[in-house]
Amino acid sequence: MNRTALNLKANKKLHTMFWDAGITSCEIRLPGCLNTWLLNYCHRHPRRWYYDKPDELLWDKKEVLLGCTHCHKILDDKMSKEEREEIFLKIRGKELWT
Ligand SMILES: [Zn+2]
Repeated sequence: MNRTALNLKANKKLHTMFWDAGITSCEIRLPGCLNTWLLNYCHRHPRRWYYDKPDELLWDKKEVLLGCTHCHKILDDKMSKEEREEIFLKIRGKELWT
């Protein structure tokens, strides 16, 4: 499966997973959060980290947060790897992957 197809598959799975879990607003909640506006999926690691791992990690709940575009941007652009991991630890706990 190419990456575009895989990302589409992951988004579909995530959509169902978050919908079923009743999560419909930003989970990250940093100052300036847009709450239910412009939501997307934030992965725990950069995309390339997942390339040589099992596909299922892309839709593992420990690996993904629902986030508004504001919080997502801070996670991606402003935070260090450690700060980002701290957020994930707080909300999701330890990841299953070792
Ligand atoms: Zn937010």
